[in-house]
Amino acid sequence: RSGDHHPRTRFLVSCELGHTVLAPEIYELIDWMTRYYRAPIGEAAKLALPPGILNEKEIQFALTESGRDYIETSPDGVLLGQLAGGPATRREWNLKAKTEIKLEDIRHWEDQGFLRIHARDQEKESIPHITVVALTEAGHSSDLDALSRAVKQREVLLWLRSYPREVVTYREINEAFSNGTAMIAQLVKRGLCEKRRIPKYELVFNQEHFEPDEIKTLTDEQQNAFDQIVASLEERSFRSFLVFGVTGAGKTEVYLRAIQHCLEQGRQALFLVPEIALTPLMHRRIRDRFGERLAILHSAVGMSQRSEAWANVLAGKVDVVLGARSGIFAPLPRLGLVIVDEEHDQSYKQNDGIRYHARDLALVRAKMAGATVVLGSATPSLESWQNYHNGRHGLITLTKRATRAPLPAVEVVDMCDEFKAQRRRPLLSRRLRETMRATLEAGHQVMILLNRRGYHSFLLCRKCGHVEMCRQCEVSLTYHRTDRHLRCHYCGESRAVPEACSACGASGAGLQFFGEGTQQIEELIQKEFPEFVVDRLDRDRLSAREAGQKILEKFENRETHILVGTQMIAKGHDFPNVTLVGILNADQGLRIPDFRSAEYVFQLITQVAGRSGRGENPGYVIIQTYMPDHYSIVHAANHDFLSFLGKEIRYREHLFYSPFAYMINIMVTHTDDQKAYGAAQWMAAQLGRQKDRNRMVILGPTKAPIGKIKGAFRYQIVLKSGERTSLHRHADAVVEACVAWGMIARPAVILDIDPYQF
Ligand code: ADP
Ligand code: ZN
Repeated sequence: RSGDHHPRTRFLVSCELGHTVLAPEIYELIDWMTRYYRAPIGEAAKLALPPGILNEKEIQFALTESGRDYIETSPDGVLLGQLAGGPATRREWNLKAKTEIKLEDIRHWEDQGFLRIHARDQEKESIPHITVVALTEAGHSSDLDALSRAVKQREVLLWLRSYPREVVTYREINEAFSNGTAMIAQLVKRGLCEKRRIPKYELVFNQEHFEPDEIKTLTDEQQNAFDQIVASLEERSFRSFLVFGVTGAGKTEVYLRAIQHCLEQGRQALFLVPEIALTPLMHRRIRDRFGERLAILHSAVGMSQRSEAWANVLAGKVDVVLGARSGIFAPLPRLGLVIVDEEHDQSYKQNDGIRYHARDLALVRAKMAGATVVLGSATPSLESWQNYHNGRHGLITLTKRATRAPLPAVEVVDMCDEFKAQRRRPLLSRRLRETMRATLEAGHQVMILLNRRGYHSFLLCRKCGHVEMCRQCEVSLTYHRTDRHLRCHYCGESRAVPEACSACGASGAGLQFFGEGTQQIEELIQKEFPEFVVDRLDRDRLSAREAGQKILEKFENRETHILVGTQMIAKGHDFPNVTLVGILNADQGLRIPDFRSAEYVFQLITQVAGRSGRGENPGYVIIQTYMPDHYSIVHAANHDFLSFLGKEIRYREHLFYSPFAYMINIMVTHTDDQKAYGAAQWMAAQLGRQKDRNRMVILGPTKAPIGKIKGAFRYQIVLKSGERTSLHRHADAVVEACVAWGMIARPAVILDIDPYQF
């Protein structure tokens, strides 16, 4: 079937992949996407195709020194610069969707020594694995007489037999025995033990805290939630629920049981989570329940494993799929249940290519399949809440933590007072420092959130006021202490700290760093608490795939006492020994020019606060802010979603934003500033001239909040309307006209339907 929405449509159809690999229910979904998101069917299909099939389009490479020179010095270097996003070191780029650049160009550059291609290493183990020791059959059953002369080995063997887990890590062995490794080698020789290599998530990190199957009885609230979902499953027709449950309410347990019920019906389930690489415990919990019937679709998994997981799904061997955003495309012909955990999470919205929202697709797909949808969150999105309000979703509320632990007490520290008291702009308040010390001395752990990575956020010349900017993007460069470089967080450009201001030439003390990032906080806290171990989790530390899990694992094992991080530490983790969460610069997100900023800040504070006091000891949260009276902060401190909602929803209605308005962002990006602006202006003018505008509001054209990224200037027109169909029609028509008039090429226009980032 060929779509007729877009000239590039024929791409995939002509290779006839559409028929052989796309399951019918997925075809239906992407067909819907082509209409709703105005996406070429080829590109939509690409999202849904198993990995590996279009592999030749994906090449990873790194620029060489001479490649960077070529970009900077030669006019012909523009194309390579476009591909690489600027001359940067130690970075790899993904050549996806860069259609104007051909494979032969890349080969040519490779021949010239401008870049090095890393063939994708298919067999690389990119799920972290670990070597463990397990008893063999003989090790389990043989009597100990054979070891009567080897007392030490006998001791180790007995210990292994009584160990609460089937496998033991070397670290655990060496903690228990002074020369454990040697003992194990002996036992292996005797055939009593064997070494195995297993994915780390299969390890139960912390035996005493992790016994999900211990949960025999659901709380009343959990039971009620479960009953409602089951009733819907029994009806076998489409229904959707918003599960609004405080952090720690035990939503996961409800999901798992609902999935179980769905499987018993002979149907299949899809479980979406925001950041799969950061939830190894969740993997384990689900794997424990569903074993072989589960597939994990995981972008951090190596290509071969990913293909294998897909193959199993396609072959109908699995009934439960756990995945992040793109998991929504898993082919499951007997889909009965879709769970979207942390449904408010921004990562469900794809922000390049086809800008789909996995939560919305979940609803569409479930409707097609006659399935039940469960959207769960402690901080529901206003869109989902409004859908409940309009009768589209049922509402299930969980108000108490399943463990009966109380929600943490929250203290808000006004940093203006701190400023006066400490006579400087402090990073840590006295209260936070005191409370950290008390918490650590009690043997508990601490999490510190600062939602900005790097060391300093900008370098300012105090003489002329110039801020060092990225050459490719309209973004100030962040100072990274680790390699003493200034780096752009949008394109990756990196350069040494200049000796003198690049605008006025002032040198030395005239140049000063400002703003703080996680690296600086980590350093500061380590200085303040030298006897405790501090670690950090943010995007910089995730560059190695294993790193994230390693950091979390160490924290889980209590080898780390304090974990500093960006929003990554807020997501769904369950560390029972954390009793203090500190939130620095809590109001930072409020200054972002986005109508959802108050919602994001409320969500972030609530989610990270929810990491505190999940175990036996009560939790505490300290919020540092210069805006202690802002409603996002006040209501988050009171764990009061409904009051926040009441206020926020009135703003949205009054200012006519989502969820009251349907919105589209038409963004024009081009390396030629005039061309981009001209096209945007032309489109805005055309739209303004429409007669049947149906209350459509046109904002712009304006420069996008980040006016240039990777060398391309960005202008946007935001459209709002109470009527979706005509809004989409107008947006579509004006873009087509603009392209047809030759004002700009189609790929330079991004049509973002239901936009999330501006
Ligand atoms: P949520 O996803 O709602 O934040 P979790 O599912 O992570 O909450 O559960 C929080 C904690 O409560 C977990 O440690 C879990 O083992 C525990 N828990 C869940 N259900 C029960 C129950 N019925 N009884 C006791 N503990 C429970
Ligand atoms: Zn940049």
